[in-house]
Amino acid sequence: MLKPNGNYRNLKESYLFYNISQKVAAYKEKHPELPLYRLGIGDVSLPLCGEAIRALHAAVDDQADARTFHGYTPECGIPEFREAVAGYYARRGVKLDPEEVFVSSGASDELGDILDLFDASSSALITEPAYPAYIDASVMAGREVSFLSAGPENNFLPLPGEKTEADLIYLCSPSNPTGAVYNRDQLKVWVDYANKRGAVILFDAAYEAFIEENLPHSIYEIEGAETCAIEICSLSKTAGFTGTRLGYTIIPKALERDGMSLNAMWVRNRTTKTNGISYILQKGGIAVFTETGLRQIHENIRVYKENARVIMEALDAAGVRYWGGKNAPYIWMACPGGMKSWDFFDRLLNEVQVIGTPGAGFGESGEGFFRLSAFGNPEDTKTAAERIRRLAARG
Ligand code: PLP
Repeated sequence: MLKPNGNYRNLKESYLFYNISQKVAAYKEKHPELPLYRLGIGDVSLPLCGEAIRALHAAVDDQADARTFHGYTPECGIPEFREAVAGYYARRGVKLDPEEVFVSSGASDELGDILDLFDASSSALITEPAYPAYIDASVMAGREVSFLSAGPENNFLPLPGEKTEADLIYLCSPSNPTGAVYNRDQLKVWVDYANKRGAVILFDAAYEAFIEENLPHSIYEIEGAETCAIEICSLSKTAGFTGTRLGYTIIPKALERDGMSLNAMWVRNRTTKTNGISYILQKGGIAVFTETGLRQIHENIRVYKENARVIMEALDAAGVRYWGGKNAPYIWMACPGGMKSWDFFDRLLNEVQVIGTPGAGFGESGEGFFRLSAFGNPEDTKTAAERIRRLAARG
C-alpha cells in the first residue's frame, strides 16, 4: 500500500493566524458597530509601483502579437531578469554572475524547494522566534530541527557558540518577526562558522529594502559568504508583489559541498521541476530594478517607514520597550507588565480594538512579546498607535 510522507505527522498544528481570525470574528459579531484597527498583517497595502504596472501591461500586449509573443521562458530566469538582479547587487558592491541568480515565484516556495539540494540527514538550525515556514518546511522534509534562542540578551541576534551544531542554518535579517538586523561583524561570525563546519546558511533577505542604516542588505557583502551561503529574496515586501508573485535566489558558483556544485544542482532541479516563471511577471520585475522603479518602490517603503515611526513614537511615549521598526516593517514590543502574548492580544482587541500578532506564535522565545506591523494604512496606524499608547500607559 502507498505510504504517505509520515513526516507530516510531526508538524505542530499552527494555530496562530487561525486563532487570530477566530477571535476577531467573534469580537466583530458581538460588537459590529466598533471599527477594528489591524496592525497584525504581514501583507502590503499599497499597490505596485507605476513602472512595474506599465511593464506588466506592455508584456501582456507582447503576448497578444505573434511577433512579440513568448512561449516558455528559460527555467532559471530570462537573461534580462537575471542581469537586472545582478545589477541591483552591484550597486552595493556585490559582484554576481547573472547565472548565479535564479528567478522564483517567491521566497516561500524557495524556502521549501531548496531543501532538495541537501541530504535528508542534514539537520536544520533555526534562530527563534522565527518565520514559521522554516520549521514546517524542514519537518516535512524529515530533517532534525534545533533552535537557537533569540532574546533581549542578544538583541534578538543570536550567534553560534562553541557547542552549536548545524548543517543548514536559517538566518533572517531583517528579521520577521523581531525586525532585528545583523551587522557585518555578526554576519562574519556566522560565515566563518559555516565555512569551518561545511554548513550552509539559508539567508532570507525578504526585508532587505527596509534597511536604512549602514547594515548589510546581502550576506554576500561579507567576505567568504560565496562559499557557504544561499540567499533567498522576494519582491513581495520590497515592491508589493505579494499577490503578483516573484522572487529570486542567489546560489554562487563557488558554493560546493562534497565535490558537488550547488549552483549546477539547482540548474538541474529547476530545469526538471519547473517550466520557468511567467514572462509577464519577469518583465514587471525587471521594471522594479530600473532607476525609476527603485525610486518608486522606495516611495512606498517610506509610507510604511512613517507608519513604523508613528508606532515607535507611541511606544516611546508609553515607556514600552521594543526592538526593530527602524530597518524593518515590524516592531517587536515587550508585552506591558510581563503579560503573556495572547493575554495582551485579548486586551488590545477587547479594550482598544487593535489587532496585532502574539509573539508566542513565532516560537517559545516569542512568549511575552508582540509583533506590530507597519504595512497598514497610515490613518488606521495613527489611530491604532494612539490607542496602544493609552492602553500601555494604563499598565
Ligand atoms: N520570508 C519571510 C521572512 C517572510 O516574512 C515572508 C512573508 O511574509 C516570506 C519569506 C515569503 O515571501 P513570499 O511572498 O516571497 O513568498
